[in-house]
Amino acid sequence: MRSVPDYFGCMVFDDKTMKSRLPKETYKAMKKAIQDNKRLDLSVANVVANAMKDWAIEKGATHYTHWFQPMTGITAEKHDSFISPTEGGNVIMEFSGKELVKGESDASSFPSGGLRATFEARGYTAWDPTSYAFIKEGVLYIPTAFCSYGGEALDKKTPLLRSMEAISKQTVRIMKLFGQEMTAVKTTVGPEQEYFLVDKEMYDKRKDLRYTGRTLFGARPPKGQEMDDHYFGSIKPRVAAYMKDLDEELWQLGILAKTEHNEGAPAQHELAPIFTTTNIAADHNQLTMEIMQKVARKHGLVCLLHEKPFKGVNGSGKHNNWSIQTNSGVNLLEPGETPYENAQFLLFLCAVIKAVDNYQDLLRISVASAGNDHRLGAHEAPPAVVSMFLGDELNDILEAIENDTAYDAKEAVQMKVGVHVLPRFPKDTTDRNRTSPFAFTGNKFEFRMLGSASSISSANIALNTAVAESLKSYADRLENVENFEEALHALIKKTIKDHKRIIFNGNGYDDEWIKEAEKRGLSNLKTTPDCLPALISEKSVELFANHKVFTREELEARYEIYLENYCKTINIEALTMIDMVRKDILPAISAYIGVLSGNALAVKSACGASCTYEMATVGRLSELSDSICKKISEFEATLDNIKAYSDKLEIATMYKDLIIPAMESIRADVDEAESMTSAKYWPYPSYGDLLFSVQ
Ligand code: ADP
Ligand code: MG
Repeated sequence: MRSVPDYFGCMVFDDKTMKSRLPKETYKAMKKAIQDNKRLDLSVANVVANAMKDWAIEKGATHYTHWFQPMTGITAEKHDSFISPTEGGNVIMEFSGKELVKGESDASSFPSGGLRATFEARGYTAWDPTSYAFIKEGVLYIPTAFCSYGGEALDKKTPLLRSMEAISKQTVRIMKLFGQEMTAVKTTVGPEQEYFLVDKEMYDKRKDLRYTGRTLFGARPPKGQEMDDHYFGSIKPRVAAYMKDLDEELWQLGILAKTEHNEGAPAQHELAPIFTTTNIAADHNQLTMEIMQKVARKHGLVCLLHEKPFKGVNGSGKHNNWSIQTNSGVNLLEPGETPYENAQFLLFLCAVIKAVDNYQDLLRISVASAGNDHRLGAHEAPPAVVSMFLGDELNDILEAIENDTAYDAKEAVQMKVGVHVLPRFPKDTTDRNRTSPFAFTGNKFEFRMLGSASSISSANIALNTAVAESLKSYADRLENVENFEEALHALIKKTIKDHKRIIFNGNGYDDEWIKEAEKRGLSNLKTTPDCLPALISEKSVELFANHKVFTREELEARYEIYLENYCKTINIEALTMIDMVRKDILPAISAYIGVLSGNALAVKSACGASCTYEMATVGRLSELSDSICKKISEFEATLDNIKAYSDKLEIATMYKDLIIPAMESIRADVDEAESMTSAKYWPYPSYGDLLFSVQ
């Protein structure tokens, strides 16, 4: 049997492979481009392309693809073979630097939010040398950014790379103030991914799962997650076999899959990789989601990535563990050993506090989707109010700094930044406060509002840019001051004073907190249509434009795309609901009513018995059937009526205010009917079947 170190990353054109396959000079140029986030010369790219092709062909590849991440939220690819004709009807395998560096794609059907008129529909893909190429199913994948001919970003990678550059630039300025010269830093991310596994046969019988990724109906099963017997429980053999296969596939692609466990809900699991550079983490997370689904099929399972596949059961999220790291591997959110290091740590900590408070809306928007709206604030995931958890120790330190008091009662001296050694605070290894949307966990922040199905890019774009802005304001303030230490202390103190409202160490699921948050003036944007307009506010445009992450046009385009995605998602759910009700549910209820009525008639005429069960059930089911029938007709009319509107925000708001509540109301009737109908007559596998059948 191959050992893991033997095959880990075997399908990746990684540093080790580059070192062994590239001429020394080319390798050096490549390495420098990766470190400094710079493009490569064509002459260097030619050499890299050729080496990449030879390596890929040895591994059985015949094609290459520019792999990109359009605004659909999933990845896209178009395969080209390496063949090139030669005289005499032969072919050779070729791959040039030009083909590696830039691809033209007539990908005019991807959402562009109006950035590309059809006459100039062609976009192009540009190689991102900071994310390694890899081989998957006989194809060499080249991670690329996808832009319009005017250079506008049409994807999720381009702005992510820009935001990484923005935060790097400002961090370098700050580090210089602390006497450390460097050219670039990186943000790091470890995204913990939650998902559900259900049996494929059951899944196939549920139109709602197939069309929308979530169940639109389903009566509560007798058992849910109340026993907490699934969380970290022993992993069932079929799931364990799946996880083993998944790990192998991910490891071959150099993905650092590390931790796997059962999650809170039945049939729910989690996979966490070891953290890496943000854009690589984003690429890896996309690949992980794709491979999770592919491997599941091999095991007769389906992997559900939707944020809320089952009502009444915990949904799935993604925890985005985030930090900033120097090129030599120093984590800037790691509290230091000396007062000076501590001052630096506190400054970065404050930069994040200020960023999260100032740009709550943008962080909220960065996780907004129709699917995630079901989770946030539903007592299973953080509320829609963004707040930060720092833990008691750190909180006490900040309070001491703010109030010029002693941190430790025993030590009667005032807490002074840059003079005092901070105590070692214990790391939050136990995830003590899982209710906080944004928690400091010892040496990194964990942003917990992300939905399980989304790319992690949007959240990191917002976070990187917002923190870049804090750091910029700090650098502007601190460069050229006479007394650095004093200015630093004052700045940290001021940040704490100005932004402490965002810090909340209590229970984020508590309704009291929502009231308190309102008093503090924190925003509570419950749904996607509620929050999206802030994306194109002047404040947002200014932030993103200043840091060269998005132009106004790019933001407006994204705003349109997000609104459209929201409306399309709910429209598909609505149509699926109508289809299920009309074609399957009402006929099933009717059939069952028919059988019960027939039985009751026969029994009554045979012996005159009262047939209480039959009569009561027929009575209630008939009422429900009438109610469902009436509601579904009204629902269709409402849906039709929306078509008359053209303003996208207005339409999205109508979906939210009219369609979603109507769906809830229809569902309530259907679920009650399900609970009274013989399982034999119900057209779909039940929640119990879906949640408890995988052993
Ligand atoms: P847990 O949250 O289960 O206690 P950890 O906190 O150790 O486990 O790690 C959770 C995730 O955070 C992992 O993906 C881990 O690699 C990631 N992580 C750890 N350190 C950092 C860091 N400096 N930057 C980004 N992610 C990190
Ligand atoms: Mg964690």
